[in-house]
Amino acid sequence: MPNSREWQLVRRPHGWPVPADFRLVEVEVPEPGEGQALVRNLSMSVDPYMRGRMNDAPSYAAPYQLDQPMYGGVVGVVESSNVKGIAAGATVRHGLGWREWAIVPARQLEPVDPAADGVPVSAYLGVLGMPGLTAWVGVHDIAEVRPGETFFVSAASGAVGSIAGQLAKLAGLRVVGSAGSAEKVAWLRDELGFDAAFDYHDGDITELLQKAAPEGVDAYFENVGGDHLRAALAVMNPFGRIAACGMISAYNESRPGPDNMFLVVGKKLTMRGFIVSDHAHREPVFRRNVSGLLRDGRLIFRETHRSGIESALDALLDVLRGGQHVGKMVVDLT
Ligand code: NDP
Repeated sequence: MPNSREWQLVRRPHGWPVPADFRLVEVEVPEPGEGQALVRNLSMSVDPYMRGRMNDAPSYAAPYQLDQPMYGGVVGVVESSNVKGIAAGATVRHGLGWREWAIVPARQLEPVDPAADGVPVSAYLGVLGMPGLTAWVGVHDIAEVRPGETFFVSAASGAVGSIAGQLAKLAGLRVVGSAGSAEKVAWLRDELGFDAAFDYHDGDITELLQKAAPEGVDAYFENVGGDHLRAALAVMNPFGRIAACGMISAYNESRPGPDNMFLVVGKKLTMRGFIVSDHAHREPVFRRNVSGLLRDGRLIFRETHRSGIESALDALLDVLRGGQHVGKMVVDLT
C-alpha cells in the first residue's frame, strides 16, 4: 500500500492562520475494507469555508480536529474498490481531500464523467461543483433575480462570483461586479460580459458602486461583507434583495458591521443568508442547466492551479487574502 501525505491542523489560529498552525505528515494507507475504495486524489479544492472549520465553534460545518487530517472536496481515481458499482479506474468526487490517498466509504463516493461533460476533472470542484451550485442557488432561489433588474456581485472574479454574475446576465439582468485588480476587472467586463466592474481599491466603494450602477441595485450577491455591504445598502433600490452567501472580509479579523443597516427598514430590503448544503435537491436542475451552458459556450469558467500537496496551505491563504487567483483555486496532486 502507498504512503500518503496529508495536512493536519495542530493549533487553532486566532486571526490570520500561520504555517505553524499546520503540519504536512506522511502516513501509511491501510487496505480498503468492505464497502470502501482506495482513491488516489488528483485535484483538491481550496475554499474559504475551510477557515471557519479551524475554529472550535458551533457552525454549519464541523470543526477540524487537532492532529487529525483536514478534509475538503477532491476528485480522484479509484485504485481498488470493495464497493459494488464502483470499479478501479472510475473517476470520483468525495470529501476526503487535503491528502494524497484516501480510503473512502461507499456513501461518500460520487462518480463523475469528465469526458461526457467535456470538462477537466477539476471542474467538479468549481463550476460543476459546490461553488457552481452556490452561485445557481444564490442567483435563482435566494436573490430571485428578474429580467431588467440590476445585479451586483462582490468577489466577482472568484469561484462563486464569476459564475453568479454570468448566470444573472443570462437571466436578463444588468450585471455589476467588484474585484481586487485591474486585470480581474478587465476579465469581468471583456470576457464574462459584465456590464460594469470596478476595482474596490480605487476609492470609496459606495461611490464606485453608485457610478457603476446609476440606476441602483435590485439584487446583491454578498460574498465580502464590511464596506461592500455598506455600499450595497446605500445603493440598493426599494424592495431589493441581498443573497448573503459569505462575508470573507471578516473571516480572519473582526470588523465592525456597516453603520447604515437602518436602510434595510426604509428601503424594505430582504436579506437572506444561505448555505449550499441545504439546497442539495437543486443539484439535478443545476447540473443539467450548467452542463448545457458550458457545452454551448455560453458560460465561461477559469481555474487557478497550484501543484503538489505542499502548495495547499499557501493556496488557501491566497484565497483568503485575495489578489492572486482568478476563478476556482485547486491544487493538483499529480
Ligand atoms: P473566491 O474564489 O471568490 O476567493 C475569495 C475572494 O474574496 C478573493 O479572491 C478576494 O478577491 C476576495 N476577498 C478576500 N478578502 C477580501 C476583502 N477584504 N475585501 C474584498 N474582497 C476580498 O472564493 P469562493 O468563490 O470560493 O467564495 C466566495 C464567497 O462565497 C466566500 O465568502 C465564501 O465563504 C462564500 N461561500 C459560501 C457558500 C455558502 O454555502 N453560503 C459556499 C461557497 C462559498 P479579490 O482578489 O478580488 O480581492
